[in-house]
Amino acid sequence: MTNHEIWQSVLAELELSISKASFVTWFKNTDIISLQDGQVLICVPNQFQLNWIKQKYNSIIVKALERITGKPIKKMEYKINNIKNIPAITTAEPTNENNLTIESNQETPAPKPAPATEPQYNNCGGFNLNPKYTFEHFVVGKGSELAYAASQAVVNKPGEAYNPLFIYGGVGLGKTHLMQAIGNELAKQRPGINVMYVSAERFSNDFITSIKDGTAKDFQNRYRHIDLLLIDDIQFIAGKDRSQESFFYTFNELHQANKQVVLTSDRPPKAIPALEDRLKSRFEWGMIVDVAMPDFETRVAILQKKCSEKSYNLSEKIIQMVAASIQTNIRELEGTLNKIIAFHQLKNMEPTEESVKSLIASVEASSMRQSLTPQKLLETIAEFYNIQINDILGKNREKKLSLPRQVIMYLMREDLKMSYPAIGEELGGRDHTTAMHAHTKIRNDIENDMKLRQEVELIKQRLYVNNV
Ligand code: ADP
Ligand code: MG
Repeated sequence: MTNHEIWQSVLAELELSISKASFVTWFKNTDIISLQDGQVLICVPNQFQLNWIKQKYNSIIVKALERITGKPIKKMEYKINNIKNIPAITTAEPTNENNLTIESNQETPAPKPAPATEPQYNNCGGFNLNPKYTFEHFVVGKGSELAYAASQAVVNKPGEAYNPLFIYGGVGLGKTHLMQAIGNELAKQRPGINVMYVSAERFSNDFITSIKDGTAKDFQNRYRHIDLLLIDDIQFIAGKDRSQESFFYTFNELHQANKQVVLTSDRPPKAIPALEDRLKSRFEWGMIVDVAMPDFETRVAILQKKCSEKSYNLSEKIIQMVAASIQTNIRELEGTLNKIIAFHQLKNMEPTEESVKSLIASVEASSMRQSLTPQKLLETIAEFYNIQINDILGKNREKKLSLPRQVIMYLMREDLKMSYPAIGEELGGRDHTTAMHAHTKIRNDIENDMKLRQEVELIKQRLYVNNV
């Protein structure tokens, strides 16, 4: 048998024991480069597949090889084909069960993700601002000019220019980004300033908890000694009477003390059903601005900016193609770009008009988030991590289960926009604070942990791109 034939037999065995999707994802374009005296060198197309195969499938591969060749395997090595800046050969961790002698390649250690040069999140009053949401990273265009100018005016004269500033518009159009840009900019310009960013949902939950625990005083103190209060998606407190009341008093106190309040919503105050009139009228004291879908030129500019931030090259023509196709919102635009990048990096290929076109088509065909359900998310992740759904929903805290669980909660929040209580419920009746913690943790971890980031990207590909 040639090496190639041996490898094909190994793959044939593997194919029987793992799912088709995993098989294609992990073993496509792999082969044996050499097999001699029990030493095996296998080539894989990228670092991600390499890590995964090494971690998950090394011992199965060894056993299959031993069975097929009838000889013991002493050493396994994996090599990446044509990836820049990554050492060519890495070796698997010793797996004692097979008694392998495995050398580690000490001269060229595996690359670690570059350390973050900026603090990951400014800690403002115990709450988080995403440092990427700055004015510099915001592309101003038709649709956001006024909101941008008003936000800058607030930075120049907090508490004076427009108070409150109320930004509204559809999902993914930059409301949270702009609001946090105000927070980031003021935190930078005025060290010591007390900024708080919170979703209305969180505000409401905090309030309810404080009543339950008899810590209403702490709650008041926390929210009323703030210089800049940013409340995101304020429409969520509509219909929640006691939360509205609490917010009303918080707002009045801050406003009287000339502290700045910024609010966002998916609709203008007037159009929020079940929002108390006294709140509607408060919101109209200041400035109400909207954000709308940017025009084609602005979408091109946004894509160019995101590419340069990620140091990724996309031709003018491809950028225009993406800008022309994605007309829903900026999150979608950014999501499509991320998919294009992940897809081509995983496949080690340069994006071409053809490949991008088919990616966009498949994204559109699967119509993205609409077709995604919590159940599908559970199934995909269970399959991805090779674990049982029942175990995910259960109480076992082994890392093997806790990480996938956290990734599910993160994706339920990010991609399905589910509320924390609903996520907790879906995950076998967990507390909403568990869901909140999981979401924050994964969101932070993927910034620094390349492997986790790639895992999440790959899961997303499975969820959204059919033909991988
Ligand atoms: P919203 O709060 O309106 O749902 P976000 O502020 O979360 O939307 O924006 C969604 C994504 O799009 C974020 O990653 C954000 O950085 C990006 N984004 C939105 N508007 C712009 C813009 N004008 N320039 C650059 N990035 C933007
Ligand atoms: Mg938002």
